[in-house]
Amino acid sequence: MPDKIVVAGVSVDTRHWIGGRRVASGDTFTDASPIDGSVLGEIARGGPAEAQAAVVAARDAFPAWAATPRAERARLLHAIADGVEKRLEELAIVETNDNGALLRSHRRGVMPRVAHNFRFFADWLLKLDHEDFETRGHTNHVSWDPAGPCVLITPWNAPLMLATWKVAPALAAGNTVVLKPAEWSPLTASLLADIAAEAGLPAGVLNVVQGYGAEIGDALTSHPDVRRISFTGSVPTARRIAASAAANLTPLSLELGGKSPLLVFADADLDLAVDLAVEQYDNAGQVCLAATRILVEETVAAEFTRRFLEKAATLTQGDPRDEASDIGPNIHPRQLEKIDGFVQRAIAAGARAIVGGHRGDGQYYAPTLLADVAQDSEIVQEEVFGPVLTLQTFADEDEAVRLANDTRFGLAATVATGDTRRAERVTAQLVAGTVWVNCFFVRDLLAPFGGSRQSGVGREGGTWSFDFYCDLKNTVTAPKGWNQD
Ligand code: NAD
Repeated sequence: MPDKIVVAGVSVDTRHWIGGRRVASGDTFTDASPIDGSVLGEIARGGPAEAQAAVVAARDAFPAWAATPRAERARLLHAIADGVEKRLEELAIVETNDNGALLRSHRRGVMPRVAHNFRFFADWLLKLDHEDFETRGHTNHVSWDPAGPCVLITPWNAPLMLATWKVAPALAAGNTVVLKPAEWSPLTASLLADIAAEAGLPAGVLNVVQGYGAEIGDALTSHPDVRRISFTGSVPTARRIAASAAANLTPLSLELGGKSPLLVFADADLDLAVDLAVEQYDNAGQVCLAATRILVEETVAAEFTRRFLEKAATLTQGDPRDEASDIGPNIHPRQLEKIDGFVQRAIAAGARAIVGGHRGDGQYYAPTLLADVAQDSEIVQEEVFGPVLTLQTFADEDEAVRLANDTRFGLAATVATGDTRRAERVTAQLVAGTVWVNCFFVRDLLAPFGGSRQSGVGREGGTWSFDFYCDLKNTVTAPKGWNQD
């Protein structure tokens, strides 16, 4: 297997990055582009041996990194951010070829935010503190101690963005990291390893292992030297990881799927509501936060549908490298089959496709809106992770809230209304980690991010990230002369 492949003119190392060295595996897996199915290259296929080597490298590098002064850790994180910005175009084009998301959003939205992830947590680290306080003359001092080696496992829908949400705070907190990116989009994690090395991050502080979750995952998540596991992905995988982590009671952060609602009230600005609805096709619907259940007040449902059809007709589906494209391909033939399975079973059960309802060319799926769906049906209850929305109506506020909350998920919710009192009443009742009112996808790293119910465990962002990645320690010191003769 060649050690490097060239993707859109960018050289990418296909091996693991362990202890500051490139390491090959005997076996490989094939990475293909969702754009046209072309083979991008053969990638090192890690297993238990590579997992063990990476955790040992992270464990060995931990004491020195944990003891590195905060200002120096922060400086190195800013240097990584500089590297991301310097190679922004390369990262954007490689990511688009690897996962099929729009090049224009990688260029202008995603990759700048990757750099921001490092800058934000570097700056936050320097502000991190607790005030000392007194108990009967004794001083309590709370410290944020680094926890140890962290295993970070990430999905393919926003590969580098989601990986660096974890890598940046984990490193800032003084931990070392083993990152395992998804096998359908392994490339930008390898570039991140190069960037971190160029920035001067010491060997073993960031390790990247490649491979199938089923083959390398358990060895990572059950390892006794791992002190934190942060996972973004699907609910079934989360269950396996939680079971595996239980052996050592390793603390877990889980960012999982969703089936989020968009509630459109009759008093909403309908054009805005339609824009919000159509936005759910972004990234070909492969967004955990996507509001895929559209709930519209029945008095405006016909008008909403008419305007939705008009707006959806303006969307361009095509090559994600083309600036004019609005919707790209889905990640993998297996994902496409899964999406179509959901849609065809829904149609067989009586759903009506107002828009789409079928495959497009190649790995593209036609943006779809399904009406006449039952609340307890599979299409309303299960995450599709494709450009598939359902449309339901409600009679009043109570029914809207009941339908919105009638799900095992609780990641996000969006409310479109012109009535601020209503917005307050409704948002107070919604079960979700994030609720947007008359907007969508506004995300600040200062805010806690995560899901309720089966959408996740824990929150990331701001202090919440440090809560997770640090061991909080309270040191109580007696006053001078206490208990002494
Ligand atoms: P997935 O669960 O199939 O895979 C995610 C990662 O887990 C991959 O790296 C995979 O290799 C690894 N993995 C698989 N089996 C494993 C095992 N036994 N042990 C350890 N690791 C294992 O998910 P996916 O299909 O890559 O991603 C899509 C899912 O992610 C959707 O459900 C989506 O909603 C969710 N997601 C959630 C968020 C969020 O922040 N809440 C963000 C993006 C995606």
